[in-house]
Amino acid sequence: MNYDKIFINGSWTDSNSSETIEVENPTNKEIIGSVPACNEEDVNKAVKAAKDALKSWQFTSLDERIDLTEKLLKELRNRRDDMVDVIIKELGAPRNLAKNTHVIPYLSDIENYIKVIKDYPLKEEHSHYTVLKEPVGVVGAITPWNYPLGQITKKLIPSLLTGCTIVLKPSQNTPLVSYILAESIEKVGFPKGVFNLIPGKGSDVGTPLNTHPDVDLLTFTGSTATGKKVGELASDDIKRVTLELGGKSPAIVLKGADLEKSVSKVLGNIYNNTGQSCSALSRLIIPRDEKDKIEKMIVEKTKDFKFGDPEGKSIDVGPLSSKKQFDKVKSFIEKGRDEGAKMLVGEVPKESEGYFVGPVVFTDVKNNMDIARNEIFGPVLCVITYDTLEEAIEIANDTDYGLSGAVFGPKEDAIDVAKQIRAGEITINRHS
Ligand code: NAD
Repeated sequence: MNYDKIFINGSWTDSNSSETIEVENPTNKEIIGSVPACNEEDVNKAVKAAKDALKSWQFTSLDERIDLTEKLLKELRNRRDDMVDVIIKELGAPRNLAKNTHVIPYLSDIENYIKVIKDYPLKEEHSHYTVLKEPVGVVGAITPWNYPLGQITKKLIPSLLTGCTIVLKPSQNTPLVSYILAESIEKVGFPKGVFNLIPGKGSDVGTPLNTHPDVDLLTFTGSTATGKKVGELASDDIKRVTLELGGKSPAIVLKGADLEKSVSKVLGNIYNNTGQSCSALSRLIIPRDEKDKIEKMIVEKTKDFKFGDPEGKSIDVGPLSSKKQFDKVKSFIEKGRDEGAKMLVGEVPKESEGYFVGPVVFTDVKNNMDIARNEIFGPVLCVITYDTLEEAIEIANDTDYGLSGAVFGPKEDAIDVAKQIRAGEITINRHS
């Protein structure tokens, strides 16, 4: 899987840079492929191509754009297994997860985007005026590695359907699946320059992209620290910016909750994708008088999750995605132990043939500990106890994040508590 070209203006071209990025399989540390490490020159070429293409693409009919997107969806369905195979290798996702979480739902998403745009009021007639919803223009898209396909399609498909053109910089850790996407876009015949792929490092490609004056909208998904920098730089020329960042999401268990179900859902969530999900429920907030019961359930139910080689049989949870992730998660586990939390499940991981970390659950966590305040982005759960409901809500809201959360309990009570949590998304008695 060595790719030596980039996709600009409808053709596979050489990068201006001679440097490459090697892609490592986190399961066994083998180098499985490489892509060009693009630079500012490549960004300028790609943005120019997108800007030129916009002149005609923005005036194509919605039917034409839907037709091409439907063809793209068909082609991606043909390439489904190729994408699954790549995601297993570049991310370390077990086959089931790669197929049923990383690929199939995002193909259904494309179908949904098509459905939504068909009924979307792109033109609104009012009594004295008409509102036309026009494409923003050239979209610069910067994506993370944790959902290598989904984080791209969420930006790509709405851009294409609404008549925008796009320059994509995928994560340098997982750039391979975006090549399958680019091949599919080429095959179905989108006009040249509508989609451009420039892999590379954040500083070399991300910065010139987010500061480029001809990028009209910069859409970034990644860590809060990088997002802050991106937002500041991108707003310098007043371009539109959307930032989807990190989380340290709470799950409150209320009195009267179905404890078995609550614990299963939270564990399923925090172990899913090896804890590498922005909306992972990483703080479990429980009533003090249910602590012993819940702790026993956590220990028992953790045994249901099989951690290991993603190519292995019945494995649910693979390795972390990279050495950087491994080192980060390991240091937080050490930190949790050192700051006095009790390790109910798991141990400090040792680096082996791959970047494996087993499940870790800390109890007796205080919300001011580093492990409760920072996004660890691994299969590490912090259990925090509360005495009163007010305290539970205060703990849930006492975070620098605010991305997601869940409440488990009798439905009406749970909805009432959910309304008091400041986060972008709260789910009741489930989480996805
Ligand atoms: P990251 O911030 O390190 O990198 C994200 C992207 O930004 C990568 O493509 C990277 O190359 C690029 N980048 C790095 N420095 C840059 C710079 N100075 N200018 C422009 N681009 C730069 O994040 P990551 O480690 O790839 O992803 C994990 C993070 O993403 C987690 O914090 C997770 O919570 C977050 N995330 C959020 C959502 C969401 O919807 N809120 C979804 C998925 C992931």
